[in-house]
Amino acid sequence: MASAAKYETFIGLEIHIQLLTETKIFCDCKSSFGDKPNTNVCPVCLGYPGVLPALNERAVELSYIVCRAMNCELAKDAVFERKNYFYPDLTKNYQISQFDKPFGRNGFFDYESGGEIKRIRIHEIHLEEDAGKMIHSGGRSFCDYNRAGTCLLEIVTEPEFKTGEEAEAFLQAFRRAVRYLGVCDGNMEEGSMRCDANISINTAGSGLGIKTEVKNLNSSNFVKKALQYELKRQEKILKQGGSITQETRLWNEESSITESMRTKEQAHDYRYFPEPDLPPFRPDQEFFKKVEAAQVELPLCRKHRFMEDYGLTVDQSDYITEEKALADFYEKAVKLGSDAKTAAKWIMGNIAKELKQHGFSKTDLEQEICPLSAERFVKLLNMLADNKIHGKIAVQTLQAVFNENKDPELIVKEKGWGSETSDGELEKIVIQILDENPKAAEQIRNGEQKPRGFIIGKVMAVTNGTANPQSVQALIDKLVG
Ligand SMILES: [Zn+2]
Repeated sequence: MASAAKYETFIGLEIHIQLLTETKIFCDCKSSFGDKPNTNVCPVCLGYPGVLPALNERAVELSYIVCRAMNCELAKDAVFERKNYFYPDLTKNYQISQFDKPFGRNGFFDYESGGEIKRIRIHEIHLEEDAGKMIHSGGRSFCDYNRAGTCLLEIVTEPEFKTGEEAEAFLQAFRRAVRYLGVCDGNMEEGSMRCDANISINTAGSGLGIKTEVKNLNSSNFVKKALQYELKRQEKILKQGGSITQETRLWNEESSITESMRTKEQAHDYRYFPEPDLPPFRPDQEFFKKVEAAQVELPLCRKHRFMEDYGLTVDQSDYITEEKALADFYEKAVKLGSDAKTAAKWIMGNIAKELKQHGFSKTDLEQEICPLSAERFVKLLNMLADNKIHGKIAVQTLQAVFNENKDPELIVKEKGWGSETSDGELEKIVIQILDENPKAAEQIRNGEQKPRGFIIGKVMAVTNGTANPQSVQALIDKLVG
């Protein structure tokens, strides 16, 4: 690792997230994924001459919610600007974006990488309109403008990541956070969250090197791989005495390499100037109150709090806090009286299995589409804790909740799965069965295991499988020993 000491690495990310608004940023067209091409369009988002943009207030609110969660300085006077460039998916020949006065600046975000909490500084966050989509097929190119004018928030980090692993860990944490905030679904495959990475290396202590930008990264794993590849490529060039070309490179997923795409435009190539059709945005106190009220405990905090408050392991807490809906479900169950550790084990074991089997995701819990509410979960665990049912019956009952969408207490009652036998009655049953089978009793006394199973089986038959096997074991010990 001699090279690690010699070179310093600088990695920065630009993340684009599509905001979960009903409509586009400057018109009333529907903002949705997967519709028939060119059905959600109008003169505004198609860029006809003479049309006027009307700013979507919800998009601005969601943007500020993200800026606040990323600990940014919030703009009191934000400005939209025109970024001029030509591309077939951008019919106006300019994109309305922000340049000089974005919504958020100088923030930071904490994430975990390699078991350590790390902090990345956020350079700025700005809102812009997304472009349309080019589809190349059968030697022809098509344009779909459904995405043109949808609300896109860009988050720019400082170039402070040192490794591809750090960038990957940050992206995963960031994705969780925007999903917690309810501002973006974070789906990288569908393109609602996209990431470009810039990277440079230089001899230690000499500051930033000449950077390349890598595009086409549609998973956090590709970000890591592309950065690892690019690091090695640049290091090799520098070691051979060459120099890096400032350029945009594409990640080639099939061959796992980055390839040159174009030399990078400078910012002034875009000839930014203030958008004349939109006034500056100057939020009032009321607006800031709304932004404040929309803040939530972020996943990293919640994960560590769950470990402290509920005694969960790292893995348990990580699993449960990955999605806000699941963390809420868990915490509600604990507040309603479930044992914290038992509830965690059930969620990661039997519940995860049932969710998968019935095609539900973690986020479906506690919503009307999933039959298992926190209340039902608590009832199930209570019956188990009170020895009204034993472990195997509890699993069976959970399955029935999913299959029949009924209350677990009702299920146990209807199916006669409850242990109706009192401790005294159970003892009488065991005595009777031992009396009827003196040979087995004698063998058990001599330490043989097999007749135990025989006796337990008899007891289960008499009680219709509702007796707690552990209680029966204990009774045998007491009566035979
Ligand atoms: Zn439109």
